[in-house]
Amino acid sequence: MFQKPKGTLDILPEEIVLWQNMEEIIRKSAACAGFSEIRIPTFELSGVYKRGVGATTDIVKKEMFTLFDKGDNVEMCLRPEGTAGVVRSVVENGLFNEALPLKLYYIGPFFRYEKPQAGRSREFYQFGTELFGAHSPSADASVIALASDVLSKIGIDSELNINSIGCKECRPNYRKALCDYFESRKDELCDSCRERLKTNPLRILDCKSKICKSIAENAPKTIDFLCEDCKTHFEELKKNLELMNIKYTVNPKIVRGLDYYVRTVFEFVSDDIGAQSTVCGGGRYDGLVSELGGPDLCGIGFGMGLTRLILVLKAKESKGLITLPKAKSPVLYIASMGKKAEEFALKTTEELRRRGIFAECDLCERSLKAQMKYADKIGAKYVLVLGDNELDAGVAELKNMADKEDRREIKLEETADIIERI
Ligand code: ATP
Ligand code: MG
Repeated sequence: MFQKPKGTLDILPEEIVLWQNMEEIIRKSAACAGFSEIRIPTFELSGVYKRGVGATTDIVKKEMFTLFDKGDNVEMCLRPEGTAGVVRSVVENGLFNEALPLKLYYIGPFFRYEKPQAGRSREFYQFGTELFGAHSPSADASVIALASDVLSKIGIDSELNINSIGCKECRPNYRKALCDYFESRKDELCDSCRERLKTNPLRILDCKSKICKSIAENAPKTIDFLCEDCKTHFEELKKNLELMNIKYTVNPKIVRGLDYYVRTVFEFVSDDIGAQSTVCGGGRYDGLVSELGGPDLCGIGFGMGLTRLILVLKAKESKGLITLPKAKSPVLYIASMGKKAEEFALKTTEELRRRGIFAECDLCERSLKAQMKYADKIGAKYVLVLGDNELDAGVAELKNMADKEDRREIKLEETADIIERI
């Protein structure tokens, strides 16, 4: 017997209702905010991520699933995140020539070679958005507002953390101060962070190790080093969030893992699950489009971890805080005895389905008793029991399974009409 690959998840029918519900909320909210869906490949040339995410990031250095094209032996990767691929597509298809801002969203699977644990899998689903061509802090605010709206509609309580990591004008000063600080405590840092000190010291602030976290506690803060423009941008963003009644905390430790972020970075954190508590992360990436060969077009977006959101919902349900939606049950189950009744059941079930009504009948040649048991198990709302007598008379009794008193004689030829009106 085969087992699924390590770090992957089977999403079974019982759980799928939750996913469909969540995706419906996302699509509706995204459409209301003017975002169109884009579907791009689940793998790209590795260069897209090396350039677009950053060669020094954990994602590129440790977490990519690499494959080689059999023909010309080109290196490709399963997509570890959404932004780089979307930017590649925007550039390749010239979408930047359309009316700006260009607003795109995607939902789909992503792949990272990570140590599997609760909330961290090797294949996981994300909902992500990218908004191109708007410099204003109101663009940052409206992207954050979409994430916040979706999370609250799905039923997730989360805290929004925001920060500004400056731009290429002011970040060098900050970087220097940060290097000086960490240099003085270099010997205490973990191996990865000693390496990060050389390649990308900002990322030390993101390290999950306890000791690095405690050292980072007193590190210089990005917001104390912002240039005037970045400072104004951040102040305006905060004002806009307040205007929209979106609560936030300024958290100077948020720097985000990807190389391309400038100015605004943010995360939504839920305390209903354990260590992997970040359910959404994003930021502004003004240099990325040109980095991937496109025009000088700014952008801002986020990635929301849907696999983690499902965990949050299940955790809330097990604490009795919410009830989760269940799969729909049939409006009618037609139980039948004998060939003629069986044929009528099959025909009428199909008639109802063509009218868009969920109906079922026996496909397993079960006894009448077993059929009734099955109808009860699948939660059928009404049951029609048919034998030769009913067929000869052309009438049968329609039973409401939730109300024993509610029984009515109906003409068989009117079954579909009656059920449609119920
Ligand atoms: P983390 O700090 O948890 O590793 P990240 O910074 O690597 O997150 P992003 O690249 O910002 O994550 O991805 C956006 C969201 O996707 C995360 O906030 C998280 O909810 C989800 N996510 C990321 N990696 C995984 C994974 N391996 N399994 C499940 N969900 C994930
Ligand atoms: Mg990660």
